[in-house]
Amino acid sequence: MSSPPPAGIYIHLPFCLRKCPYCDFYSEVGTEERRRSFLVALHQELALRADRNLDADSLYFGGGTPSQFAPVHICAIIDRVSALFHLSQDSEITLEANPGTVTREALEGYRAAGVNRINLGAQSFNDENLSFLGRIHDARDARRAIAAARRAGFTDLGLDLIYGLPGQTRQQWQADLEAALAAAPAHLSCYMLTYAPGTPLDEARAAERIRPLPEEAVAGLFELTVETLTASGFVHYEVSNFARGGSPPAWSRHNRKYWNGAPYFGFGPAAHSFDGSRRSWNKPDLDAYCKALDRGYPPPGGREVLTREQRMTEAVFLGLRQTEGIDIGDFQVRFAVDAEQLFDRAMADLVDEGLAATDGRRFWLTRRGLLVADAAALRLASCF
Ligand code: SF4
Repeated sequence: MSSPPPAGIYIHLPFCLRKCPYCDFYSEVGTEERRRSFLVALHQELALRADRNLDADSLYFGGGTPSQFAPVHICAIIDRVSALFHLSQDSEITLEANPGTVTREALEGYRAAGVNRINLGAQSFNDENLSFLGRIHDARDARRAIAAARRAGFTDLGLDLIYGLPGQTRQQWQADLEAALAAAPAHLSCYMLTYAPGTPLDEARAAERIRPLPEEAVAGLFELTVETLTASGFVHYEVSNFARGGSPPAWSRHNRKYWNGAPYFGFGPAAHSFDGSRRSWNKPDLDAYCKALDRGYPPPGGREVLTREQRMTEAVFLGLRQTEGIDIGDFQVRFAVDAEQLFDRAMADLVDEGLAATDGRRFWLTRRGLLVADAAALRLASCF
């Protein structure tokens, strides 16, 4: 039996300076005291779940705003993870940073602590857009943070951008893409603005205070993104993600684990874990998290053992989000099914509609198909 691929370790740091109106991630503004209590609890959770047999080759600090934590705290977490798990020497260690919170000194500190990949949540280089998104930074801060990251020695620099804002034109989005490309990042994540239920942005939409950009216009911006970035040498490898070309491309090793069914272990409130067949999660509740760990108990949450059917469904949904698509032979081996026969009709229909393509070995979505990736995956998943 082949050994499982190396795992990813995720640390959820659930604090932000201010909540952005579109965001449904678990985070709070918090106080210094709550941040301190959280750090104590996080170290307890790491110790409680220590496993020197767990081979990992990526560590990801997400949130929330990890860059709200000083380098000394990030360093202590990296040291703790390295002592309690088997984190390989060449691990990818990523920290998400908000351009409104970083200084060159802090970035140098993160680098000295072992962080080798920085992901800046620039979101836009247009001040009006940044203000609409409720961000704490402006375009000048974003440029300053990029320059500071460079001076601190980060060559592996990623930028996050958001498009599809109400009223956004192709010219405006093109200007954002060009500003991002001018920073010569190794990685770009371009997300469509979504109206997540329960967020202030969704309430504004429901009350008709804002009018979302029509679907066709958003689709046009997606096409523009793919054309512009691939023409600039980026590899489009997942619906929203682009890596600087090379061999291998500068893709996110950590995030590819989620899409490829590799194991990952999450720490912190709201963090999820997956060991290949079992999924577990911590409740998104900081108080309950700290209270349980203070008493020496695991934090409250849930767990489920995935059935074969659930694992197949996940493999279809996650596979089709990637431009490489699904490896038909690999799917057959993993799930002991004749994938070609199983998906025969649904695959043929998607190909006929111009949403998918196949070379007999792999099955992937076309650019048009990627726009409706979940609906296409549902059609395959309904075959079993
Ligand atoms: S900074 Fe990031 S995590 Fe925090 S509220 Fe804004 S989008 Fe959400």
